[in-house]
Amino acid sequence: MIDKRKSWAINTCLNHPEHVKILQGNRPLIQPIYNSAKFTTTSEHPFSEQFIYGRVGNPTTRQLESAISEIQGREDTIIVSSGIAAISQTFLGLLNCGEHMISFRQIYKPARMFIRNHLGRFGIKNTIMSLSHLDQLESKITPETKLIHFESPTNPHLEVADIEAIIKIARKHGVHVSMDGTFGGLHQHKEFDIDVIIQSLTKFGNGHGDIIAGAISGRKELISKIRETSHYFGAHLDPQAAYLIMRGLKTYMIRYKHQCQTAEELARYLSHHPKIKKVMYPGLESHKGHSLARKQMTDMGAIMAFEIDPGVAESAEVFCHKLNLIQLAASVGSTESIICPTLQFFGLDLSTDEREELGINPFTVRLSVGLEDLKDLKEDFDSVLSV
Ligand SMILES: *Cc1c(COP(=O)(O)O)cnc(C)c1O
Repeated sequence: MIDKRKSWAINTCLNHPEHVKILQGNRPLIQPIYNSAKFTTTSEHPFSEQFIYGRVGNPTTRQLESAISEIQGREDTIIVSSGIAAISQTFLGLLNCGEHMISFRQIYKPARMFIRNHLGRFGIKNTIMSLSHLDQLESKITPETKLIHFESPTNPHLEVADIEAIIKIARKHGVHVSMDGTFGGLHQHKEFDIDVIIQSLTKFGNGHGDIIAGAISGRKELISKIRETSHYFGAHLDPQAAYLIMRGLKTYMIRYKHQCQTAEELARYLSHHPKIKKVMYPGLESHKGHSLARKQMTDMGAIMAFEIDPGVAESAEVFCHKLNLIQLAASVGSTESIICPTLQFFGLDLSTDEREELGINPFTVRLSVGLEDLKDLKEDFDSVLSV
């Protein structure tokens, strides 16, 4: 090979650089990023066992898939380009034209919008009901129903779904269950027999606010089915991004636990504040889903919602802008604390009655707690609340 290179013109050499040889056993401690979109193949193995093309599989994203399966205690995972891609590909991978799915108003707004405004275009019917009326779930199931999709805890107001109750009804009718577990992080809910777990890795998985990505995990046969569909959506994740998530995951447990601890203390503090009307945090005894949360989760999460007294500011939006350290921004699960008004971000597609039921109003906010010191976060709130 070396000798042949000598006869090549420079542009041939530049386009076929030498591969650096690494002795067996002399492995890099951190696996390299496989940037290659294409892989050469060998006749020694069937094509189906080899990496061929980056949209269909890449060793770096594959490594992330195993890590996510492991932390979630699931058999297999597909990594995709966003949390919402994980949601849409799960639905389109599992549902056929003429079939029906059930979901809840208390889910992430873009997921609700996709179900309401787009599934019908593929002939997939849907029912959206309230998580507060689980007693009505069974009556919504028809012979066409193939999937129940829910979140726990929910975005933005942290309602806790009764996972066992939903699974029980689904099993009785042979319906699959998908759960978006983003708000509870990656390490919780392992013990539940949920068919498909969806995660926005944009949040706690990556954790540093610089990547958008999603994951679909579950039993092998269902994941294979969704994977097959997913190859034709082209929503694969770039290996550079997959690598950064792998790096973020190393500190996932430490970050998550620490963020939960600060969040719990802050939630208690705000719940006793005279200018705060109501705090929605699963770790507070006053939360309507508290006992369920204690049963289903070991960590109560780093996200809360609360309602300010109208005397504090003209609106939640004005309140958020008055804070100094905590920034008004989209998303959750970063190392910085982030706040947003829930009406503008999550409630504009809902009717007045629906908003009222979900507790979304002009004075409610969602807060994602980062890694700042509790003292500084409290001070930031105090500076605006003590007016
Ligand atoms: C953010 C979020 C998503 C969507 O994830 P993206 O990575 O932003 O596409 C889905 N579900 C929940 C609960 C989320 O918070």
